[in-house]
Amino acid sequence: MEIHNIIIKCSFTNNNSSDNKCDSLPTLLTTFCQFLFPGFIAQAKPWMNPVLFGDIAEYTGFQNADPCISRGCKWSKHKKGKVYVPYTISNQYSIREKQIIQGALYSFAKTTCIRFIPRYRQQDYLHIKSESGCYSFVGRRGGEQVVSLQRFGCVYHGVVQHELLHALGFNHEQTRSDRDVHVRILYQNIIHGMEHNFQKFQTNNLGTPYDYNSIMHYGRYAFSKNREPTIIPIPNNNVAIGRATEMSRVDIQRVNKLYCR
Ligand SMILES: [Zn+2]
Repeated sequence: MEIHNIIIKCSFTNNNSSDNKCDSLPTLLTTFCQFLFPGFIAQAKPWMNPVLFGDIAEYTGFQNADPCISRGCKWSKHKKGKVYVPYTISNQYSIREKQIIQGALYSFAKTTCIRFIPRYRQQDYLHIKSESGCYSFVGRRGGEQVVSLQRFGCVYHGVVQHELLHALGFNHEQTRSDRDVHVRILYQNIIHGMEHNFQKFQTNNLGTPYDYNSIMHYGRYAFSKNREPTIIPIPNNNVAIGRATEMSRVDIQRVNKLYCR
């Protein structure tokens, strides 16, 4: 099993900056601090040590909705149109952390046909636990599959939603087949060895538009080695990207298209 999981510990001294800079850190770590979930960075307190990540376990390939969907990695639909996804939550978490995780699990029920339900005896289920970093497999793997939400770094509403979307079969927004029309990848600024995080795939985009506000979109400085952007929106370089703190309207629409219609 290949796990693409990068863990960078950093502390935050300046949460007011629009770039969420981690001023106390060496350059390399500072650039890491600017990527992925600005929402959780914004919420991070100076005494915390957030963990940042490239977060897909066993990267399987394409999509926005992964091609494994055609090989059966979708969660199955119940007769009445609901899709039940069993889960367990580790006792590693505090009551407050469990509330955050359960809030994110429940958020899918408000807008989609997905119902995360506590596991009883189902064979396939998500095991939500605190391992090293935040990561998930893409789609249903069969049997127990870990969704890792490391304590003191990953237990935020948007991060939980992001990992759950991976578990439902969705990949990062900037891997979409049509991404080159919407963003430019600046490979010269990417940390050596991290280029695979920017690979493009032949995706099934489910008829939905490219979405800078997707909770699955990386930020402008993802994996930057030099404080320069690695992803810039085109044609307007000033548009905000990757700053979502919760699922966007389009994220919700995709779940509905893949599972609920
Ligand atoms: Zn991810």
